Amino acid sequence: MKPFAYVKPADVEAAIQAAAQPGARFLGGGTNLVDLMREGIEQPDTVVDVTGLPFDTVDDLPGGGLRIGALVRNSALAADRRVRERYPMLSQAVLSGASAQLRNMATVGGNLLQRTRCPYFYDHASACNKREPGRGCDALDGFNRGAAILGVSASCVAAHPSDLCVALAALDAVVELRGQDGTRRVPLTDFHRLPGDTPEVETVLAPGELVTAVELPPAPVAANSRYRKVRDRASYAFALVSVAAALEVRDGVVTDVCLALGGVAPRPWRATEAERLLVGGPADESAYRRAAEAELAGASTRRDNAFKAALATATIVATLRELSTGGDPR
Ligand code: SF4
Repeated sequence: MKPFAYVKPADVEAAIQAAAQPGARFLGGGTNLVDLMREGIEQPDTVVDVTGLPFDTVDDLPGGGLRIGALVRNSALAADRRVRERYPMLSQAVLSGASAQLRNMATVGGNLLQRTRCPYFYDHASACNKREPGRGCDALDGFNRGAAILGVSASCVAAHPSDLCVALAALDAVVELRGQDGTRRVPLTDFHRLPGDTPEVETVLAPGELVTAVELPPAPVAANSRYRKVRDRASYAFALVSVAAALEVRDGVVTDVCLALGGVAPRPWRATEAERLLVGGPADESAYRRAAEAELAGASTRRDNAFKAALATATIVATLRELSTGGDPR
């Protein structure tokens, strides 16, 4: 590992100042960054440890929303009674990711910034535009079973690995950022960038900008919500496809729905086309399938991952069916 300086600022202003220097990186739980440093993918000159900053609480917002500090540990978030009751899909998403030990360390802010698990990204012998811009992408014609099928480019087809972010995308979460120019708020669905020609630029974060909180607006529909994750083994595996969904049905008609997908795109994928088709329509399996197929109509598949379009469609249908037939979403 390349030698680096370690600092632990006492307040947020000092942290932002320290991270504004070239080659600096924030350290939260370290469950992704330390791995990347060991592999030589990330080589910071300075690691700015922010774990002493006061962003480790979940607080109520007026009207029933929640403000989640960026340093709240994943396990604490999943166990929070308010999260479990108001946004069960969020608790389920967190508990479906990683292991208990990792969830005890990993933070909400770090989860937003975790990097892809595309195998070529970690292999210095392979071409990877995300690791070395302009070098090429060995995943395009290589082993691409886990690759994305929506929002991809000729430069990169890597899927975003987070479960938590998929639920946050469905819930209209807003990310609070603090930088040298002050505080700004960005919808979660705008926080991660699509790869285009610059897959190495993964978020809208400015240099030295710190994620300080994620806010969830009140969402009564989310009390009836579900996170369903399909993967190769039952635990400690990334999603092939995941669905975060909340549904409200009255008199057989869909009156409200929130839907986002994981494992299929370079960022958490809000299924806006499916939502548009669902609202006001019948709450039945045919309508769910039509909406899911419309959302996946733009899929661009590679040799090994064509199954993801059908799998995503089936998973959307199954999740909505469960929610509309009163299956226990918890
Ligand atoms: Fe790198 Fe993206 Fe290609 Fe994977 S898909 S090898 S991360 S450029």
